Amino acid sequence: MENRRVRVRFAPSPTGPLHMGGVRTALYNYLFAKHHGGDFILRIEDTDQERFVPGAEEYIIEALKWCGIEPNEGIGFGDGAYAPYRQSDRKPMYREYADQLIHSGNAYYAFDTSEELGEMRKLIEAAGGTSSYNAITRQNMKNSLTLSEDEVKQRIAAGEPYVIRMKIPRNEEIRVKDLIRGWVVVHSGQMDDKVLFKSDGMPTYHLANVVDDYTMKITHVIRGEEWLPSAPLHVLLYRSFGWEAVMPEFAHLPLLLRPDGNGKLSKRDGDRLGFPVFPISGNLQDSKTKKMESFTGYRESGYFPDAFINMLALLGWHSSGNQELYTLDELVKDFSLDRVSKSGAKFDPEKSKWFNQQYLRKRTDAALAAIWMTELKTKGFTPDPIFVEKAVRLIKEKAMFANEFWTLGSFLFVAPEAYDAEVVKKRWNENSAKFVAAVNTAYQAMTSFTAAEAETLFKQTAETQAIKTGEVMQLFRVCVSGAAGGPALFEMCELLGKDEVVKRLTRAVQTIKA
Ligand code: GLU
Repeated sequence: MENRRVRVRFAPSPTGPLHMGGVRTALYNYLFAKHHGGDFILRIEDTDQERFVPGAEEYIIEALKWCGIEPNEGIGFGDGAYAPYRQSDRKPMYREYADQLIHSGNAYYAFDTSEELGEMRKLIEAAGGTSSYNAITRQNMKNSLTLSEDEVKQRIAAGEPYVIRMKIPRNEEIRVKDLIRGWVVVHSGQMDDKVLFKSDGMPTYHLANVVDDYTMKITHVIRGEEWLPSAPLHVLLYRSFGWEAVMPEFAHLPLLLRPDGNGKLSKRDGDRLGFPVFPISGNLQDSKTKKMESFTGYRESGYFPDAFINMLALLGWHSSGNQELYTLDELVKDFSLDRVSKSGAKFDPEKSKWFNQQYLRKRTDAALAAIWMTELKTKGFTPDPIFVEKAVRLIKEKAMFANEFWTLGSFLFVAPEAYDAEVVKKRWNENSAKFVAAVNTAYQAMTSFTAAEAETLFKQTAETQAIKTGEVMQLFRVCVSGAAGGPALFEMCELLGKDEVVKRLTRAVQTIKA
C-alpha cells in the first residue's frame, strides 16, 4: 500500500451545478494529489438516471477549469489508462462484480415489489422499529435467501424485475478508519441490506463507486461528510470482494456551514444574504422539479479564481503557520489532511470579499487595467492603455472587485453632469465661486501641469483670496469630478490633464447654482 502512486478522484454526480462545497472537495483532492506527486481524476457518477441534469457535467468541467484546479485524468481532461470515466459508459462491467458477490454469498436477488416493501415498512413502524431491509426482516421477504433456487431461476427467466442487495452480516462491528475523524465504528445491525444493482440494469452509487475506486487504483477517498454513513458499507464491499489490501484510505471533509453556523450552506442562504454559492453562473434544471433555475457564480460576481480558491482552502483546513494568503503552489506545499478540522466550517461572506481585495492589490496595474479596458470598450470607450493604467493606480485602493472600477472612476472618462448636492449647498457661495474661477484662470496659464504644481497654485490662490483651503478643497473636487469623495485630488487633476480640468472648472462655475 505504502508504495502505491497516490491517486485520488473527484466524483460528482451530474445532478446540478457544483456547489462551493463540492469545489472545496475537488480542491482538497487536487492539493493532496499534487502534494504527493500523484494523480487527480474526474469521474462522473451518473448511475441515477432520474436525477440526471443535462449540462451539469459541462458545468463541472468549466468550473474546475475556471478555478485552475484541473484534473490530469478523466472526463474533460483526457483519458488515462482507466477510461471510461463516466459510470454510464462503464455500465457493462458492473454486473459481473454484482454476480461475483452473489456467488460468494455476500449479495442476493430480491424480488419484492414496492407495495411489498411498503407493507414491511408499515408493519415495522407500527411495532415501533425503524424500517430497514436487514438480517431479520429479509427472512420474511421475497429473495434468493428465502425462495428455493428453482423459483429464483424461474422468476429471473420469466423476466421478473429484481434488484441485487448486499447481505449485511447480522452482528458485527464495522470499523472505518477516517484520516480526519479517526476510527468510526458502526454495528452492522444498524445497517441496511443496501441495493447494489437496480432493476433497470444499472448499479447503484455504492457498487459503482467501490468498483471504480478499485479498478482505477484510487488510494485515497476524500469526500464530503454526507458520505460518512456509506463508508461502513464500502468497507464491507472491499472485504466481500477480497480487496482489503488495496482499500483506499478515507477522509470525510466537514460541512460548509451558513454564516450563522446554523446548518448547511445552501443556495437559499446565498440568495437571501446576497453572496454566490456556485463557482460560475448558469442556468440548469432542478434535478427534482425539472424546472430551469438560474444561479449566480463567483466568477460573474467579480471574484478572481485564485482569491476564491484561497478562501475555500481555508474553510475547514488551517495552515501550518498563520499564513492566510496562499498561491496555489504554496497551498500544494503546505496541504495536509491532518490539519482538516472535524467540525463544520462557517462561511464568512465578508472574509471572502477581503480575500478578493487582497488579490486585487496583488495584481499589477497593467493586469487590472486590462480588465477595466474590456469593460470600458463595452461601454464604447477606446482610451489609451497607459491612461487606464494610471487611472487604475489612482482608484484601486478603494476597490474590492475590479467591477467597482467604473463606479469609482467613471469621472476620469466622462465629465460630471451633476455635482454633489450636499457639498454644493454647504460650500458654494460668492467667495468660493470666485475662488474656483481664480484657480481656473491660474491653471490656464500653466505650461506644465503636475499634481504638485496644481496643488501649489491652488494653495497660492487660496492665500491671495484669504480663503481657507479646508473650506474649498471638497468643493473644488466636486467641480472636477462631481463627487464628494475619491482619489487624491491633485493626482486626479494631473491625470485628467490641464485642458480637461479647465473645461470642467469653467463648466462648474457656469452651471452650479447655490
Ligand atoms: N457521487 C458522489 C457525489 O455526488 C461521490 C461520493 C464519493 O466521492 O464517493 O458526491
